[in-house]
Parts: sequence; C-alpha cells; structure tokens
Amino acid sequence: MTDHADASEAVREAVLEAADRMESNKAYLTDLDSAIGDADHGANMSRGFGAVAETVAGMEEADPDEIVKTVGTTIISEVGGAAGPLYGGSIMSASAELSEGVTAETTVAFAEAYLEKLTDRGSARVGDKTMVDALTPAVHTYKKSVEVDDLPPLEALAKAVDACERGVEYTVPLRARKGRASYLDWRSVGHQDPGATSTLILAEAILDVATEHLDGDAERDARDPAVITAEREGLDLAETVETEEDAAETDGGEDAAETDGGGSE
Ligand code: ADP
Ligand code: MG
Repeated sequence: MTDHADASEAVREAVLEAADRMESNKAYLTDLDSAIGDADHGANMSRGFGAVAETVAGMEEADPDEIVKTVGTTIISEVGGAAGPLYGGSIMSASAELSEGVTAETTVAFAEAYLEKLTDRGSARVGDKTMVDALTPAVHTYKKSVEVDDLPPLEALAKAVDACERGVEYTVPLRARKGRASYLDWRSVGHQDPGATSTLILAEAILDVATEHLDGDAERDARDPAVITAEREGLDLAETVETEEDAAETDGGEDAAETDGGGSE
C-alpha cells in the first residue's frame, strides 16, 4: 500500500469510527442538549454521521480531501439547526487543505482552516460556551506542538485532544452567549456544552485511528493547565514548577533549597 492509499484508508476509518461514537454517545449528547438546548444534538450528530458513514464506506478509491469534503457536504444536507451548517460547512471548506495529502503540515493547515471557518460562520469566540471553546485550544495546541515543539504528529495530536478535553470542561461554568443555550442566559451556567462535547468525541476518534495507523502509543497526559497557559503565554512558570519538582525529588534540590534558605538569614 502506498502512503497515499494508507492516508485515505486512515481518513475513512477515522470517519467510520467517529460515526460509531456519535451513535453510541447519542443519548449522552441529547441529555447535555436537553439541559441547555432543545435535546436534539445527539440525534443531529448520529443522523449526520450515520449518513456520512454510509457514503464514505463506498469511497475506497477516493483521495483524503475528497473523503473529508464529502463528510462536510453530507452533514450540511442531513443536519439542520446550528451544528449542521457549522460542522458541515467548516469541514467542507477546510478539506481543500488536504489536497496535497495527509502530513503534519497539511493537518495543521486543515485544523486552522476548520477553526477559522467555524468562527467566521458562527461568530462565536472563546468563552461563549460553544464548540469553539473545545476546538480553539485543540487547534492551537496541535499547531504549537508540531511547529514549535517539533513533536511527532501522534504526540501532537494526543496533546491536542487533552487540550480539547479541558476546553469541554471549561464550558461548564460559562454563561452561553451564542446558540440556543444563550436564551437561558445565566441559567446555562453549570452545564457542559453539547457541541464542545461532540467535538471532543470526534477528536478522540481521530486520535485513536491515527494511533493504529501510525503504529504508536502516544499517551494522553493531562498536564497542569497553569503550565500549559504559561507555555502559551511565554511565561516562566514552567521553569518554576520544574525547579520545585526537582527540589522535592532530588537531594541536590534539597541542598539547593537549604542554601537558598541560608542565604536569606
Ligand atoms: P441547535 O442548537 O440548532 O439545536 P444542535 O443542538 O445540534 O443545534 O447544536 C448545538 C451546539 O451548537 C451547541 O452546543 C454549540 O456548541 C453549537 N453552537 C451553537 N451556536 C453556535 C455558534 N454561533 N458558533 C459555534 N457553535 C455554536
Ligand atoms: Mg439542539
């Protein structure tokens, strides 16, 4: 199998895996949407991805960008409401970034285009309690991990999924300012956003299939959000935390701490 055929197969599998997970999480997503919306997000996602799976199952010869474009157009035609056009339209537009194949570079471009289209269409920003709150940290983390930290794609993806998960948790205390949940205003506080949650389900499906195809075992490791923020902002906190750990874990560290203490007498 050529790399190109393998990439197509991986993309197809990721889509089928995502469809399975939307189906098995249908009740969960519906519950989340019944708390702050109209209880249809589970049905929307499982119907949309169900149709996607049927179409994509027969696309064995297709290129990765064609497959991803079909995911977008199928979701647009199957799913109404807010999430359908947002998911479908953004995926469809971003698919062009994969026309040169599936590499670290093209997937970063895809992720960035997806986020850009989504925020163009829905005009939600971080903090509005939508899928943007899960997608933004995931995309930024992926880009930084690939381009700045030079991590292998699988490790970068695992970090992105961790960031996505924290983004989902971050939606809980927020007051919704976009979509149906915004009608509830302050009463939306304390509930997890359904669209952010389905974004995480999608990201996890992609990570798991990528792990099989790239033959790796990138561990997801939820790090201290303060360290991640510090890294992103270019602050020195990471160094401080490391020094404290060193001090606790090594004799040399204790000595250093004692010396510091002595110096301040
Ligand atoms: P609807 O709100 O039309 O019933 P869904 O229930 O399928 O559609 O999707 C709801 C999800 O859509 C929300 O949880 C939120 O994440 C997302 N959403 C709603 N409006 C926007 C927006 N303007 N920008 C980004 N995401 C949005
Ligand atoms: Mg809904």
